[in-house]
Amino acid sequence: MSDVRNVIIIGSGPAGYTAGLYTARAMLEPLMFSGYASGGQLMLTSDVENFPGYPQGITGPEMMMHLREQAERFGCEVIDKNVASVDFSSRPFKVTVENEVFQSHAIIVCTGAEAIWLNAENEEAQKGRGISTCATCDGAFFRDEEVLVIGGGDSAMEEATFLTRFASKVTILNRRDVFRASTIMYERAASNPKIEIKPFRQIKKWLSNEQGLTGAVIEDPRDGSTEEISATGAFIAIGHKPITQFLENQIETDDEGYILHKEHTMTSIPGVFAAGDVVDTRYRQAITAAGMGCQSAIDCERWLEDNVH
Ligand code: NDP
Repeated sequence: MSDVRNVIIIGSGPAGYTAGLYTARAMLEPLMFSGYASGGQLMLTSDVENFPGYPQGITGPEMMMHLREQAERFGCEVIDKNVASVDFSSRPFKVTVENEVFQSHAIIVCTGAEAIWLNAENEEAQKGRGISTCATCDGAFFRDEEVLVIGGGDSAMEEATFLTRFASKVTILNRRDVFRASTIMYERAASNPKIEIKPFRQIKKWLSNEQGLTGAVIEDPRDGSTEEISATGAFIAIGHKPITQFLENQIETDDEGYILHKEHTMTSIPGVFAAGDVVDTRYRQAITAAGMGCQSAIDCERWLEDNVH
C-alpha cells in the first residue's frame, strides 16, 4: 500500500462505520481513527428501539460492535486513537495522531457531538461527584436515591425513564412548559410513577457537602423566585455540541461549530467530506447519521475517481 491513503475516516459512530463499510466495499482500503472511546454517543445509550432491522431493539454498544465488525469484514482498518490535529492546507491532507503523521487524498469527518454542561454555580466541583451527563454510565450509582434530570428533550425523557430502574424518585426540571421531546418519549416519562416533571425550573446553584451532591437551588425564570430541592444525583440532558475543535477552523462551520456542506456531503475544502451529528443540527438520529455516512462515502468515491485516480 502506498504511503498516501485513499481515505481517512475520523470518528466512529454510525456515520463513521457506515462510511467505513461503503469505502471498504469500494476497494478504497479506508483507514479509520475511531477515537480512544470508539463508537461515539451510542456507547452511552441504553436501548435503541428505532434503528430499522432490530425488531426487539438493541443496546447502543452492541449495535456499534455490529457496525464495526461489518466495516472491518470488508477491510476497513480501525485504529482506536484520537486525531490530534489535521492540515488541510494542501493535498495530500495530513492527519496527526500521537505525533505520527498520516497522509490521505480524501478525508471523511464523522466526529459527532458531545454533551453540553449547564455551568451553573458549583457544577465544576461536583462533576463525577453526583453530577453527570450520562445516565447509562452512572445511573447505577444512585440506587434508591433521589435524582434530578435537567432538560425537556428526548434525551432528558430517556435518561429519566432509564434512571427509574435504580433511583427511588426522578424529578425532571425544564426551564419552560414546552417540551422538545417527542410525544411518545414524554408520555412514557410522564406516566412513570417514579417520575415528577417540574416545568419553569432552572438550576441556579448546586448544593453539596463532603460526601457529594445534596441538591440544588432552583429558580422559576418567570419571576426569579427560588427554592431548594434535595437530590444526591443530577443528570444534565440539555443537548450537544459538535466535536470540531481539532479542525482549528480549517473547514467552514456555522456559529455553533457544526460543519457546513458545500456540495452534497463535501465541505468547504474539496476532498474533505463530513457526515453525522458533526453536521446535523436537525435529525440527529443513528439512522440518519448512518445514511449520511453512506452518502459521504459515495461522494468521496466519485470525487477520488474524478480528481485523483
Ligand atoms: P434537544 O435540543 O432536543 O433538547 C434540549 C433540551 O434542553 C430542551 O428542553 C432545552 O430547552 C433544554 N436546554 C437547553 N439549554 C439549556 C440550558 N442552558 N438550561 C436549561 N435547559 C436547557 O436535545 P436532546 O439531547 O434531548 O435531543 C437531541 C436530538 O436527539 C433530538 O433530535 C432527539 O429527538 C434525539 N434523541 C432521540 C432519542 C431517541 O429517539 N431514543 C434519545 C435522545 C435524543 P428549550 O426547549 O427551552 O431550548
